[in-house]
Amino acid sequence: GQSDALVLFGVTGDLAYKKIFPALYALAKRGSLDLPVIGVAASSWRLEQLHQRAIDSIQQSSGIDDQRALDHLLARLDYVSGDYNDRNTFKALKKALGEARCPTHYLAIPPALFGTVIQGLNATGLTGRAHIMVEKPFGRDLASARELNRIAASAFPETSIFRIDHFLGKEAIMNILYFRFANAFLEPIWNRNCIASVQITLAENFGVEGRGGFYEATGCLRDVIQNHLFQIVALLAMEPPAYRGYEAVHDEGSKVFRAMRPLGPDDVVRGQYAGYRDEPGVAKHSDVETYCALRLFIDSWRWGGVPWYLRSGKCLAETVTEVLVQLKPPPQRLFSDSVAADCVGNYIRFRLSPNSAIALAARVKRAGKEFVGDQRELYLCEEWLGKEAPYERLLGDALRGDSALFTHKDAVEAAWAVVDPVLVMHQPVHRYEPGSWGPKEADALIVENGCWLDPARE
Ligand code: NAP
Repeated sequence: GQSDALVLFGVTGDLAYKKIFPALYALAKRGSLDLPVIGVAASSWRLEQLHQRAIDSIQQSSGIDDQRALDHLLARLDYVSGDYNDRNTFKALKKALGEARCPTHYLAIPPALFGTVIQGLNATGLTGRAHIMVEKPFGRDLASARELNRIAASAFPETSIFRIDHFLGKEAIMNILYFRFANAFLEPIWNRNCIASVQITLAENFGVEGRGGFYEATGCLRDVIQNHLFQIVALLAMEPPAYRGYEAVHDEGSKVFRAMRPLGPDDVVRGQYAGYRDEPGVAKHSDVETYCALRLFIDSWRWGGVPWYLRSGKCLAETVTEVLVQLKPPPQRLFSDSVAADCVGNYIRFRLSPNSAIALAARVKRAGKEFVGDQRELYLCEEWLGKEAPYERLLGDALRGDSALFTHKDAVEAAWAVVDPVLVMHQPVHRYEPGSWGPKEADALIVENGCWLDPARE
């Protein structure tokens, strides 16, 4: 049900500054923020300092264009200062919560402290009808994710646990689900008979931006592939949900993860951009990957034998997220400009960010006597799909008790089980130049199915 308070663990941190205050302000502007917001962190700040932090954060992101909404938010802010290892912090929080009985506790804190805070809440009687929102990363391997699920389950029922994967709050990604199942024309071709391979690229043209310490403990595979890219795969690969409602979508997503073949060292190529080891907080001989490409198989009737190629990296040529579903070539090559020759045949392309679009590529004959053609795209575009703010959506949903866009225990564990073998057993990282598309060694992964196709310039 509806929460009557929001407790923000980590309110002085980076995520609160970059995403959470702007989301709270957006909710206030829509008139959807009618509860106290209590920040809890170690810094001994006065409330005015927290107000200033909130104002700076909002100014930095969207700017302040609604003074009443800002005042509304500030009037609801409260602050409890204390260490999470100290039970007095939770007693002070209990006092600050007053009459509130159904708070949402948002853990925007280093993952190593999730357990400490959950135990502190439990020991102080602050669980009850409360909800808990947990930031990524949810564990760092299968064993730690299981342990985290165990700790969370000791204090909260599964229906009160909101695990954030903010990709699920993105419109363009939800549109994959809609587009697949609101239309009938895709289904006959959406399988191993017609699809040759799928490529998914999540590229960033910037580095670790001062968060080297965090990244050293994480790396690309954990940071974005096991969670964000796998969620995209699930939406692309799942069977049609058997009934309306998100439970059915979650069930089908979990089945996709369970059907994924666990990765082996030869399925993964890791890279590191030149200069990463000079970043603050990064070890001089770091072997942490800032780039990761992998080849994945989903052993189901629909997808048997179809390779899924996923890649992501920092300091790449562009900031873009795109899916390319490549169809098989025609059974006979009747024309000299054979489709196979230039490596690109028919495909369906989902551009997910920074803009959003869906395109269907086909060959069309050029004017003239020769049977020679060009690749053209039938292009669908919804401008607004690219401009949403996932945190606003997800925070609003969680406060209303709507868990549709949050990940479930089974799915998280099944996804970790796929990557678990290569978290420790892997080849060393290959260097790549910032501004490139990653190490050339990644080409070998995909060679039997063409080549990596760089996202379209739109
Ligand atoms: P951060 O900047 O390091 O902030 C940590 C917060 O936790 C601070 O408010 C800090 O309070 C508080 N804290 C740490 N140890 C404490 C203790 N023992 N007692 C009391 N308070 C303590 O971390 P972050 O970057 O915001 O990340 C928070 C979470 O969001 C992590 O799970 C991260 O993986 C996730 N996340 C972050 C980003 C991002 O861009 N930053 C993106 C996606 C997900 P003081 O400052 O007062 O010490």
